[in-house]
Amino acid sequence: MNTNLQKTINILPDNEGFFGEYGGQFLDEKLKKEFKKIADAFLALKDDKDFNEELNYLLKHYVGRPSALYFAKNLSNKYGARIYLKREDLNHTGAHKINHSLGEALLAKRLGKKKIIAETGAGQHGVATATAAALMGLECDVYMGEVDIQKEKPNVDKMKILGANVISVKDGKKTLKEAVDAAFNAYLKEYDTAIYAIGSVVGPHPFPMIVEHFQSVIGKEARKQFLELTNTLPDCVIACVGGGSNAIGLFDAFLDDKEVNIYGVEPLGKGTKTGDNAASLTYGKNGIIHGFKCKLLQDENGSPANAYSIASGLDYPGVGPKHCYLQSLGRANYVTVSDEQAIQAFFELSKTEGIIPALESSHAVAYAIEYAKQNPDKKILVNLSGRGDKDVDFIINYMK
Ligand SMILES: *Cc1c(COP(=O)(O)O)cnc(C)c1O
Repeated sequence: MNTNLQKTINILPDNEGFFGEYGGQFLDEKLKKEFKKIADAFLALKDDKDFNEELNYLLKHYVGRPSALYFAKNLSNKYGARIYLKREDLNHTGAHKINHSLGEALLAKRLGKKKIIAETGAGQHGVATATAAALMGLECDVYMGEVDIQKEKPNVDKMKILGANVISVKDGKKTLKEAVDAAFNAYLKEYDTAIYAIGSVVGPHPFPMIVEHFQSVIGKEARKQFLELTNTLPDCVIACVGGGSNAIGLFDAFLDDKEVNIYGVEPLGKGTKTGDNAASLTYGKNGIIHGFKCKLLQDENGSPANAYSIASGLDYPGVGPKHCYLQSLGRANYVTVSDEQAIQAFFELSKTEGIIPALESSHAVAYAIEYAKQNPDKKILVNLSGRGDKDVDFIINYMK
C-alpha cells in the first residue's frame, strides 16, 4: 500500500466540490442553495444504517449484485494475457447505471421529492432511472436527443412502458449534450418538487460525488472477487469513459494499489478532428460545461464542441472532474479506441465468449485486447459496463 497516494487522492471532493482544480459549482446562488441541501442530505445518508440497508437489499435482490467476475478463458487463450470481466452487463436493466439510479431515487424519496428529472444518451440512464422511479413510486421525466431516440428505440419503448415521460430534445446535434441542457433547464423550474438525477459523474457538485459513491460498489466487489479468484491484484484495470461513472466506480478501489495500472478508454470515434470524437481527456482543454470545470472538447470559440462516438453513451464533450484530477496526478492513464476498433471488439467478444457487449463497453474490451497482445503475461480486469442488446439493430444496419 502506498500511503502517500492515499493522502493525495481524495475520495470525496473538498467542500466546494473540487477534485484538485476540477469540478465545483458554476451556478447561480439559488441553485447552489438547493444543491447544498442535496449535498447535505447525501452526506448524512451515505453512512446511515437504514439507508444503506435499504440500498443494499435492493442491490442484492433487485439488481442481482454482486455481479459476477468472469475469467474470459477463450479471449485470454487467443490473446495471451489473462482477461477478467466484471459483469455489470448482468445487472437488472443491463448496465451499471442502475447502481446510481437506485441510490438517487432513494435519496429523492428521503428528500420528499415527487419527481425525478433525468437526461439520457444511450437510453441506459433513462431506463435505469425510469426503473428506479417505477419501483419507488416517483414520477419521471427523461430528456433525450432526437437522434438518440431514433438510434435507441428499444430503450425509449422501455422507458414509456415503465411509465416515464420521454421528452424529445431537438436542439443542436440532438444528442446527449443538448439533452443535459434541457434537463437542467427543466430542473431550474421544478426543483421544489423534483430532484435532478444525473447519469454520470458529471455536472455540478454534489452530483459527481453522489454518483461516484453509488458506483463504487463495482470496484469494491471486483477487487475482493479478484483476490478470491487469483490471490493477487490485477496488473491493470480498464474501463470505458463517457462521463466516467463506470470507470470511477471500478478505479476507486484500486487507487491506493500503486502496482495496479489504471486505464480509462475514451471514444476516438471517426478520428482526431474536433467533432469526430468524444475524447475529452485526450483532446479537451480546461473549460466549464453544465456547471462544472473539466477537460472539455471546445470549438474555435471555446464553446463546448459537438462530441461524437458510435456509442451514444460516450458522446459527451465533458468528463467527470475526478478523472481530470487523476489524469493530472498521473494516477490514471487515458487512451482512445476508434469506432471501428470498438465494433471489432463487439464481434470478437460475442464470437469468442458468447457475450454481446454494449458498444460503450466494447471500447474497454478493444483496449484490453490491444493490451493483452502487448503484455501477454499480465492479468487484466475489464469493466463490462453493459450488454449489447440495445445496440443490435443499430449494428446490423451499420454493417449494411
Ligand atoms: C452510459 C454508459 C456508459 C458511459 O457512462 P459512464 O458514466 O462513462 O460510465 C458506458 N457503458 C454503458 C453500457 C452505458 O450505458
